[in-house]
Amino acid sequence: KREEEDMQKLQVAVDQFDPKAADTTKFSTLPLSQPTASGLSASHFETLTEVQAQAIPIALKDRDILCAAKTGSGKTLAFLVPVLEKLYRSRITEYDGLSALILAPTRELAVQIFETLRKIGRYHHFSAGLVIGGKNLQDESERLGRMNILVATPGRMLQHLDQTCGLDVNNLLMLVLDEADRIMDMGFQQAVDALVEHLPKTRNTMLFSATQTKKVSDLARLSLREPEYIAIHEAA
Ligand code: ADP
Ligand code: MG
Repeated sequence: KREEEDMQKLQVAVDQFDPKAADTTKFSTLPLSQPTASGLSASHFETLTEVQAQAIPIALKDRDILCAAKTGSGKTLAFLVPVLEKLYRSRITEYDGLSALILAPTRELAVQIFETLRKIGRYHHFSAGLVIGGKNLQDESERLGRMNILVATPGRMLQHLDQTCGLDVNNLLMLVLDEADRIMDMGFQQAVDALVEHLPKTRNTMLFSATQTKKVSDLARLSLREPEYIAIHEAA
């Protein structure tokens, strides 16, 4: 079947891809699936920002990432592209349940991430949901079991993991901690620690932060495995 051939070609391209030597100026030069490539192009994303050029190639090779880069540097795509690619190459379908969890400190940020995901993920068949509270837990939880990708605030997500039966996190492939410094500053440290406890160890994790703080490095030690460090400094 045509699709299976494309999938195998993509896997070979990713296996042969060398992040250190690769041309990372444009999304079209990366080994990305057709749905992601089309979603990026339809959203008018063509050239990678610096943080994307550093993080995406490494994440495509299934490495954990610890990344510090200032606000506005393009961190959202730096994790959304690897999330979509990981699920696609793992042949995740809407029947496979939760495969990627993205944590953000506030509802507003979670909504922004979700909207970007809807844009660049429009040609994929994954199901995606927001877990930010505001509705009753029961209404929210009925939809959760069917989602492949969740964008969530830590407190609300933990509430679901503790109370929602039928939410299976055992097949989670990817955890993203966005704005980890703010997650910590807002007092979510215990919630995130407890969340990470629930998740399978054999996952990939990407941690993004605008600043490097003690709390962030503590969290990194707890949640990442032999991460690649990426720090984008402001131009002099
Ligand atoms: P951060 O999370 O680092 O603060 P965002 O991911 O929110 O940054 O991106 C900041 C802005 O840059 C957004 O408006 C986004 O649409 C835009 N942007 C991100 N990546 C690209 C890109 N590769 N090309 C053009 N614009 C981009
Ligand atoms: Mg951001």
